[in-house]
Amino acid sequence: MSERAPRLGDVIDDYCPRCRLLLNHDVTSLFGEAVAKVTCRTCHNAHDYRHAEVPTRRKSPTSDKKKLLEQVLSSMPKPPEPPPAPPAFDRKKRDLWAEVERIKGQKKSS
Ligand SMILES: [Zn+2]
Repeated sequence: MSERAPRLGDVIDDYCPRCRLLLNHDVTSLFGEAVAKVTCRTCHNAHDYRHAEVPTRRKSPTSDKKKLLEQVLSSMPKPPEPPPAPPAFDRKKRDLWAEVERIKGQKKSS
């Protein structure tokens, strides 16, 4: 029993990327004697013929992303220490209070 060349309109099994299942497909495009494009008979999504290959599931992309982020973060230099707050404001405030005390003292003594 020899395999005959596929023809347009043939129904073949293929993996539908939309249904994410191996389903019946119509052959809608041929490249020579090879199936080029198929249309899913379930969702009517046309796509390249995948030779009925179910793609292997990738590792969860979120955990990969997290790992990548951690790698990037660990390879980055630590952020520099924040510069100490300028003491000018504090000193001014203290001077002001000192001034208040001084005025109070003056008032008391007068
Ligand atoms: Zn489908």
